[in-house]
Amino acid sequence: MNSKELFNEIFLSHDNFRETKLGSELITYSELIPIIERLRKTNFFQIETLGKSVEGREIFTILFGRGKTNILAWSQMHGDEPTATAALFDLINFFSLDNSFAKFKDDLLNEITFHFVPMVNPDGAEKYQRENAFNIDLNRDALRLESYESKILWDYAEKIQPDFGFNLHDQNSYYTAGRTNKYSTISLLAPPIDHVKSINYTREKSMQVICKINDVLSNFIPGQIARYNDDYEPRAFGDNFTKNGISSILIESGYHKSDLKKEFVRKLNFVALLSAFHSISEKDFEKVDYTKYFSIPENEQLLFDLLLRNLTLTYNGNSFKIDIGINRKKCLDLDSKKLFFKGTIAELGDLSIYNGIEEYNMNGFKIEFAKMLAVDESANFNLTGKAELKIVNGSFGDSDSIKSILNGIAIG
Ligand SMILES: [Zn+2]
Repeated sequence: MNSKELFNEIFLSHDNFRETKLGSELITYSELIPIIERLRKTNFFQIETLGKSVEGREIFTILFGRGKTNILAWSQMHGDEPTATAALFDLINFFSLDNSFAKFKDDLLNEITFHFVPMVNPDGAEKYQRENAFNIDLNRDALRLESYESKILWDYAEKIQPDFGFNLHDQNSYYTAGRTNKYSTISLLAPPIDHVKSINYTREKSMQVICKINDVLSNFIPGQIARYNDDYEPRAFGDNFTKNGISSILIESGYHKSDLKKEFVRKLNFVALLSAFHSISEKDFEKVDYTKYFSIPENEQLLFDLLLRNLTLTYNGNSFKIDIGINRKKCLDLDSKKLFFKGTIAELGDLSIYNGIEEYNMNGFKIEFAKMLAVDESANFNLTGKAELKIVNGSFGDSDSIKSILNGIAIG
């Protein structure tokens, strides 16, 4: 079986290993604990508590494998970015549940020792927020290490000296892969080590492994893989780890059409990580020309969830042509523990360089500035957009997806 066939089989088998106790769009600390307890009872995994968060929640590492190459993979250092946490537990099932792919797994376990830290920011995860309990972004705290959580991750890396670090995140829906109208479904980064973006041996290895991931994922999402912005961020973990000899790889889970719950992207994460592990264990990434990394299109911000083109804004008897770009953000209702979408006007004016996942030509529709509108009594009117606008001579009809995007925006 060649590599393409192998990863196709792995892709198709994902459902057998999917950790059914976890969704992909919301994972809280309390959901994690029973799974950790279940793994503790096996001989396959070694679980260690690395320390506690600000609010006293434990941060775990899950160890398995017997190889001399150390791989550290951590997720949810941003609490509202859980897709890869789900994928890490799917991988744990893949390695431990049954005898399928036995030779493939054995080879990996002989070559690699895995260290999975599946929720670096449990306090943020509990509230579905990016930052920790002090509202500090942990991925901007790798220099000062003032937060317990960042210090725990840093100290653990220092202790185990991983050869590779996988930094796992979710990205917004407005990214495209290059200048296209397609979602950037997965974006990848070999973090830089300085402002001039030098390439040392450590970073070169990250680029080579990313090329291998890109080869495999291109079979499933052609044209929807992007290269994440490589501006140097002196306070970020990936940049600092790379500087310290850990070949780091950032994987951002983006969106895919009709995959609002991110189950498909979760599966892609599962495949992406296995392809990277495979390439590391076989050392075949070493043969890759690292400059191919730069042929992966850049992550561009060219997309809105909803783009309304050619509206006419009326003000004091004059007319102005404007487009409106609206994005939806996932928010957690803390009482019901349910996610809901909130629409925000991201930008208005000439948006002709952008695309919308959904687009409408609103030629002939007039809008005017409006005060709060009682569009829907149950809607959340916590407005964060730049303007409140009212459509005065038309409506969007009954499209549920449009309603979900518009929820929270006073457009009637
Ligand atoms: Zn993030």
